[in-house]
Order: sequence, then C-alpha cells, then structure tokens
Amino acid sequence: MVQTDPNCIFCRIVAGTIPCHKVYEDDHVLAFLDIGPLSRGHTLVIPKGHWATLEQVSDEAGAAIGRVLPRLARAVLNATGAKEWNLLQNNGRAAHQVVDHVHFHIIPKIGDTGLGLDWPAGKLAGENAKALLNAMRQQL
Ligand SMILES: [Zn+2]
Repeated sequence: MVQTDPNCIFCRIVAGTIPCHKVYEDDHVLAFLDIGPLSRGHTLVIPKGHWATLEQVSDEAGAAIGRVLPRLARAVLNATGAKEWNLLQNNGRAAHQVVDHVHFHIIPKIGDTGLGLDWPAGKLAGENAKALLNAMRQQL
C-alpha cells in the first residue's frame, strides 16, 4: 500500500475525488493533461504514492515512471505533431515546484509555445569536480 496525503490535490486526483483529463494509468503511475498548459499536449506524469520530491521516491515508483515516460512522450508527440519537447521535473519552491507531489512535465515545443528556460551555465573546474565526485559517490 502506497502512502497518500488526503490534503494533496494530486493524491485526490489519484483517488478520483478530483477529476482529471486522464491520459494513462497503471498500478503505479497516472498521467493527465495539465490544466495550465504551456503548450498543446502538456501532460503531467505522477506516481500514485505521495512523495514530495523525486529524491524521496522509492526505487519501484521511480522505475515505474521511467518505464512509461518514453511511451507517453511518443503519444504526446504523435497526437500533437510536435517534434521537440522538454521533460521537466521541479523539486522545492525555489525550483518552481507548486504541488508537493512528485510530478514530471512532458511539454511539447510547438512554435513559440512550450517551456522557456534560462540556462546560466558556469564552468566546472577539474579539482572541484574530483572533490564533488568523491562526496557524491560516497552517498550512493
Ligand atoms: Zn500527493
């Protein structure tokens, strides 16, 4: 049994107490149209269990989402005629997450519609990379 939060709008959509435009559903995953789309076909993909952010998600739920993302993307692209698209996944307010239930956005790029993005790239220095890699690998 997965954890749910009765106050969470996405858990209520999973439970069926709030309607959605359902694109896909299996035992672990639900996909539905975003009601504030950035472009035609903008789709949200969520685990049925409640986790606020991606790093908290169980390996099983993460795998279930990963298994269907390519198929859902193909469906969105084929239905809309879009050739390019973004997969967006935000974690935390500062990172633009609005609903605290993990969700992936499939966002077609159609003309001027779709995701706008600033990318203020820095530069990775070799010594910094080594220390960072060591710290990260110790956490895996
Ligand atoms: Zn939830």
